[in-house]
Amino acid sequence: MTNKKTVSFSKKTTNIFFHILTNCNLNCRHCYINPEQHGRNTLPLSVITSWLDAFAEKSRIANVIFLGGEPTLHPDLASAIKKAKQAGFASVTVDTNGYLFHDVLSKLGPDEADYFSFSLDGPTAAVNDRLRGQGVYEKCTAGIRAANRRGFATSLIYTVSQSNIHDLDRMGPLLEDLGIRRFFIQVIGIRGKSAENRDEKLQVSREEWIRIVPEAAEKIAKRGITVTYPKVFLKPEETFECTGLVADNYFIFPNGRVYRCPLCEDFPIHSLCFKDNQLAETERLNESDFFNLSIPEGCVMNKLIQPQNLSYGSNGIPEYKIACCMLKEEIS
Ligand code: SF4
Ligand code: SF4
Repeated sequence: MTNKKTVSFSKKTTNIFFHILTNCNLNCRHCYINPEQHGRNTLPLSVITSWLDAFAEKSRIANVIFLGGEPTLHPDLASAIKKAKQAGFASVTVDTNGYLFHDVLSKLGPDEADYFSFSLDGPTAAVNDRLRGQGVYEKCTAGIRAANRRGFATSLIYTVSQSNIHDLDRMGPLLEDLGIRRFFIQVIGIRGKSAENRDEKLQVSREEWIRIVPEAAEKIAKRGITVTYPKVFLKPEETFECTGLVADNYFIFPNGRVYRCPLCEDFPIHSLCFKDNQLAETERLNESDFFNLSIPEGCVMNKLIQPQNLSYGSNGIPEYKIACCMLKEEIS
């Protein structure tokens, strides 16, 4: 039997999404990294640890997620993971495209990283590689198997778009074969490259999302895998909440910008930044001015940057609200 719950927002848990560099060996079609806004630099280990120190007071309730670009391109990633563990952070995860550069697995014990989370966007090379690049499926699945052989816990992230939504329900056998314990479904955000190429129509309609995603998630969870997927479309009886107000998330970029909302990352409206290695507030107006706005469409940033997923009745009233992109359902 599966158990489904909405993962409620809480200020009692902190999530630190730490982009330690923006460089990447791949060139995925929907990459959200925007070097104009996020910088092109690689943070030295000393800066990574100083910035983590800014969260020292809440380390016991804080999860650190190292990302890039491709974080394993950073020669000191293993040391950064060890430092985060020694500093007492609740968990340390690495989000990787699977290439596992610098032989990172051999520099760590399985207890030193809580998860290696691999990005794969299809159950076959044909589906995945047209989005992420030729040969990536092979490399990524080999990386997952190598991590499992060494005893690391592995999870997988699948970004759903118009290009691969119909392939989602074929992921179950592959996940089981790969020994994946947690499966995260994400929805495409129209930012980074997807925003540059708006004609491509990557967004998924409400009808398709509701018809395909919950059922596919349920089917996969029945294999004993914990599946998480974003709610995206709220039912009339469900309450809209903005995580910028009710949760404690930080999206850190190597140029020192720190956002509280991932949908804001294409714009210089970050509410925090690192100054002399200390976390400081930025001048208003910034993203935090959007969080309190109440609109009938739900998420303000969704309406501003990706309104194609909205629908209006003949009276001009929106037919549903869009949830915060961080609101998730979890089936275990
Ligand atoms: S692996 Fe990630 S950072 Fe690299 S190109 Fe793909 S989406 Fe962008
Ligand atoms: S995605 Fe929307 S609801 Fe969520 S933090 Fe950003 S502005 Fe708020």
